[in-house]
Amino acid sequence: MRKTILKITVVLLVIIFLPIGFFLVNDLTKLNQDEQMVEQVYNKQLASILTAVNQHSENIISYWASSLDLPVDCNSEAMKGIAGNLLINNPSIRQIGFTLINSEKPLAVYSRNNEKGSTVQVPKGEDINQLIEFIRDDYQKIEVLKHDDLTVLYFVMKNQQQATLCFINVVTEQFILQSLGPEIQQVSQDMFYIAVSDSVSKQVIFATENSATDTNDLQQTSLWYFPGYQIGIRLLSRTIDELVKERSKKGRYILWGLVIVVVFGAVFVIWNIRKEIILAELKSGFVSNVSHEIRTPLALIAMYAETLRLKRLKKLEKQDEYLEVIHSESEKLANMVNRILNFSKIEKGKRIFNTQNIPLLEFIPNVMDSYKPYFEENKVDVTCNMPEEEIFINADREAISEVFFNLFDNAVKYGKETGKRVEVRCLKHKKNIVIEVEDNGIGISGKDRKYIFDKFYRARKGDLANRVKGSGLGLNIVRQVMKGHGGDVSVKSKLNEGSCFRLKFPMNKK
Ligand code: ADP
Repeated sequence: MRKTILKITVVLLVIIFLPIGFFLVNDLTKLNQDEQMVEQVYNKQLASILTAVNQHSENIISYWASSLDLPVDCNSEAMKGIAGNLLINNPSIRQIGFTLINSEKPLAVYSRNNEKGSTVQVPKGEDINQLIEFIRDDYQKIEVLKHDDLTVLYFVMKNQQQATLCFINVVTEQFILQSLGPEIQQVSQDMFYIAVSDSVSKQVIFATENSATDTNDLQQTSLWYFPGYQIGIRLLSRTIDELVKERSKKGRYILWGLVIVVVFGAVFVIWNIRKEIILAELKSGFVSNVSHEIRTPLALIAMYAETLRLKRLKKLEKQDEYLEVIHSESEKLANMVNRILNFSKIEKGKRIFNTQNIPLLEFIPNVMDSYKPYFEENKVDVTCNMPEEEIFINADREAISEVFFNLFDNAVKYGKETGKRVEVRCLKHKKNIVIEVEDNGIGISGKDRKYIFDKFYRARKGDLANRVKGSGLGLNIVRQVMKGHGGDVSVKSKLNEGSCFRLKFPMNKK
C-alpha cells in the first residue's frame, strides 16, 4: 500500500508542481525583462529631463555671449551699456571682461557696483589656441574654469579686429539658485525630486523639495557649464526600484498563497486516496475473513446433517450431540449474518432505535445471565458491580444487548489462554451513566487503539490476533449504536494486561 501511495504522491507532485514551476520561471524571467525595459525607458526619461535643465543653462550663457560679441570697441560706451545691462539683469554675474589674447592686461573690465580691476586669472596657452581654431571654423566654443566660488566662462570673440577673449565671472551657486532654480522647479512638475549638489562634498545647493535625500539614490549627471556640480533626479513618491520591489513583493505573496492552496489541495487529495486505499484493503480482508467464518459452521452443519439424514449413527445418544452442534453452528451463522445486516442498516442510516426506559439494575444482570453458558464454556470468571440505587437509560434493548454481545465476544476471543476474567461495572459520572466492560486479555497497542472502532479494522500484530477470526465490524457497530443513543464508547488498554471498554450514556432524568 505504501508503494501505491508513494507512487500517487510522486505523480501528483509532478503533475501539480512541474507546470507551476515552469509557469513561475517563465513569468519571473518575463517580469524581469519587462521591468528592465520599463527601467530603461524611465532612466532615459530622467536623463532627458536633466538634459533640458543643462540646455537651459546653455541657452542663458549663449545669449550672454552673443550679446557681448559685437563689432564695437570693448571700451566704448555701447559695450559699457551692454555689459551694464547684463550685470543688472543677471545678479549672478560678478564681472565681464575683455583681454587681447596672450596679453596680461585686460582691455576692459565691467564689474557690479563699478569695481575696477580683474579678480580672476585670464586663461592662456593651448586651450586658447584651440578656441581660436574653432573660431576659424565658425564655431564659438565657450570654455569654463572653476575658481573658488566663481565659474569663469570665456570665449574668443568673432567680431573684434584683434583676437580678443571675453570672460564672464559667475558666482556659481547664485547662478544655480537664481537662473536654474525656476527652470528646475518647472520641469519637476511636482512629480520628480531634482537636486543640484556639490559633487565632492555632496552638499545640496538647490532642491525642489526639502526632503533629506541621499544624493546617491538619484540618477545624476554633471552640470555642463559648472564643473564640480551635479544634478540628480528621482520619482518624487517612490523610485522605480521601489515600485518594482513593491510589485514583486505583492506577486510573491500571491504566489505563496497559491502554493499553500495547491499544497493543501495535494495533501487533501493524497490523504483521501490513502483513506480509500486503506478502506479497499480492509474490505478485501473483510470479505476473506467473513467467508472463512461462514465456511466453517456451514461445513460442520452440512457434515452432521448429512450423517443424520443417512442414519449412519452407530449410537443413538450421539444424535443429540450432533443436533446440538448443528444448532450452535447455525446460531453462529445467524449472529454473523445479523451483524452484517445491522452494520449495513447503520451504514445506510436506516437503523431505527426503539428507545425505552431501561432499568440497569435489572437489565445488565439479565444480559449477563443470557451469556452465562458462553462464559462457562470458555471458562471466564465474570463479575458484575452495580450501584445500589436504580439507574435508567433511554435506549433500544436489542441494540444495547448487541453492544454487550460484541464486547463479551471480544473479551472471550482476545482473552488469555487460562484465567480469563471479565468485569462489568456500572456507575454515574458527572452527567453521564457509564458502563465499563473490563477484561484481562491480550490488550491493544496504542497504534491499534486509534483504529479499532473503524469499520473492517482488525489488529494484525500478535499470534492470537492473527489466529482469531473476525469481521472487523463488532466495535464499529458498538460505536454507531452508542452515537445513535447520544453517547460514546472509548477504550483504555495495555498490551498483555487487558482492556477496558467504557460506554457512556447521557443521564436519563426519569
Ligand atoms: P473483530 O473482533 O471481528 O476483528 P472488532 O471490531 O470487534 O472486530 O474488533 C476490532 C479489533 O479490535 C480486533 O481485531 C482486535 O484486534 C481488537 N479488539 C477488540 N476487542 C478487544 C479486546 N477485548 N482485547 C484485545 N483486542 C481487542
